[in-house]
Amino acid sequence: MAKTTVTLASGREMPLVGFGLWKVPKTTAAETVYSAIKAGYRLFDGAYDYQNEKEAGEGIRRAISEGLVTREEIFITTKLWNNYHRREHAVDMAKKQNEAWGLGYIDLFLIHFPCALKYIDPEVRRYPAWWMDDNGTVEQDRVPIRETWEALEELVESGIARSIGVSNFQTQSLYDIQTYNRHPISSLQIEHHPYLVQPDLIKMAQEAGIVVTAYSSFGPQSFLELPPTFSKRANDIPLLFDADPVRALSAKYNVTPAQILLRWATQRNIAVIPKSNNPSRLAQNLDVLGFDLEVSEIESISNLDKGLRFNDPGFYLPNHPLRIFG
Ligand code: NAD
Repeated sequence: MAKTTVTLASGREMPLVGFGLWKVPKTTAAETVYSAIKAGYRLFDGAYDYQNEKEAGEGIRRAISEGLVTREEIFITTKLWNNYHRREHAVDMAKKQNEAWGLGYIDLFLIHFPCALKYIDPEVRRYPAWWMDDNGTVEQDRVPIRETWEALEELVESGIARSIGVSNFQTQSLYDIQTYNRHPISSLQIEHHPYLVQPDLIKMAQEAGIVVTAYSSFGPQSFLELPPTFSKRANDIPLLFDADPVRALSAKYNVTPAQILLRWATQRNIAVIPKSNNPSRLAQNLDVLGFDLEVSEIESISNLDKGLRFNDPGFYLPNHPLRIFG
């Protein structure tokens, strides 16, 4: 029987397969999350940026109140948005996010991106995204990562977060955090699919005991539904579902191309958090631990690598590109 969880550097267990909440509408999030729990999901990947933490929490609380699961069986990941990197803002925001979920604590709290933007009062502008205003203005702030990381460590000490980590970081910043951290970097969440493999980043993280979580496992698919500045790169490239080794292996193992892409990651101990609003896809995305690819087959998928990144603020913020992956 394949392992269904992975051990974080904090010593806590995290499911290898979870459900991603980006673009799950606020109006249906509670129901979607409740149905996902019924389908067997235990890990939910949220963020302040996704604007559905309260509703996702409602879905989970309903499942708990009906006795489908206990709080301990559920694993919540959520993330700190870029405007809240200052110590006092990070702590305050995490408390607010924890209250929104309404589940007592957050299992894993991540810094969403390694870049600080100017503070925006969440009561004044509830959905800051990357921009300060409707003209697309982006304003950086001078907050070192160390200040934000140490705020996250306070969250562990006060019991708000059980484990902490980062997202969209590269090896240099991970090495840097390792020079002063008091609590381990439990997980690194990154864009990871066969068009963007990042083997050195993954090696470095895994060698340091940092669990890698892959997002956008289906590559271009998730970005096609976004406005033109975000979808351009995805429109210019064939879908991974149609790529040669993926199709052939899907026929060989009698699973869908999506399941091949997810197994390519989980077999290397990389957690996945696919998102779907469709019940049958939801079920198949969870069922990705029951077959093993051969090493040469994993390599044939990795050989599709093009270093092609879809979630790149150096590309989709034309007024003020943030070249964090440079
Ligand atoms: P994804 O790779 O999970 O793809 C989602 C797209 O694939 C949707 O269009 C969906 O309809 C389709 N899909 C889902 N299952 C399918 C199946 N079995 N067959 C065919 N199509 C299928 O993309 P994502 O939402 O970008 O990433 C997953 C999660 O990762 C997000 O929901 C979010 O939680 C997280 N994420 C994090 C960051 C970050 O910066 N940390 C960025 C992007 C996403």
